[in-house]
Amino acid sequence: MPKSRKRKATVPAAPPPPRRPRPRMEYRARSDEAWYGARVVVQDGWLRVMFENSTEDADEWYNPGADFASLGDVEALRARFRRECPPLDHARCGDVRPGDKLCLACDIHGDVEELKYYDAVLETVERAAHGVEQCACRFTVRWTEGPRSGCLDKVGIEVVCCVPKSPIQDPVLSEFLDDLTKRFAEDQGTATAASQQADPTPMSEEELCGVLLSLKRAPNSSTGKP
Ligand SMILES: [Zn+2]
Repeated sequence: MPKSRKRKATVPAAPPPPRRPRPRMEYRARSDEAWYGARVVVQDGWLRVMFENSTEDADEWYNPGADFASLGDVEALRARFRRECPPLDHARCGDVRPGDKLCLACDIHGDVEELKYYDAVLETVERAAHGVEQCACRFTVRWTEGPRSGCLDKVGIEVVCCVPKSPIQDPVLSEFLDDLTKRFAEDQGTATAASQQADPTPMSEEELCGVLLSLKRAPNSSTGKP
């Protein structure tokens, strides 16, 4: 059971003003590298990613103490999140241009139940005369992710979503990532100060190898729960 959050002892006399809902976001899952609607909370210090329309067995967890060996790992996690990709509107099919990043439903096994979303780049558009209701254009895309990565496909508008250019602004996620970023920045500051004080003899290749091995994370360290 999730632990209850700390509450303020006093109850405000008037209800607080309605908060703007957090923008919906997408997360690229570790399990299949596909994009899903998700939301995040911090629980016992861990970042918990909860998928829309999934049970909690599917949740993915990040342990700030074990899952991040460098700033690069923090940025890699940041890149797994983005704003929700809206479906391309039938009346606005002319807005997309070759080179645009799209997110598409990929029919994995010819089964509608197995639709997964991966990114692709728009190569060309065959425009068709049509009204605002039903776009009849055909979009040639090159997959950049997923099982069809590198392949070209010609698709209709019904599977096309647009990847927003502005980054996701989620306060919970930002705080978690910014804390980690700060920690690595401080570690680096400490290391720099230490190296300025002392001038240690350079490590032998063997010693360096031992250090690198000890820094390597166990492959399953990030899948456990707190
Ligand atoms: Zn069209």
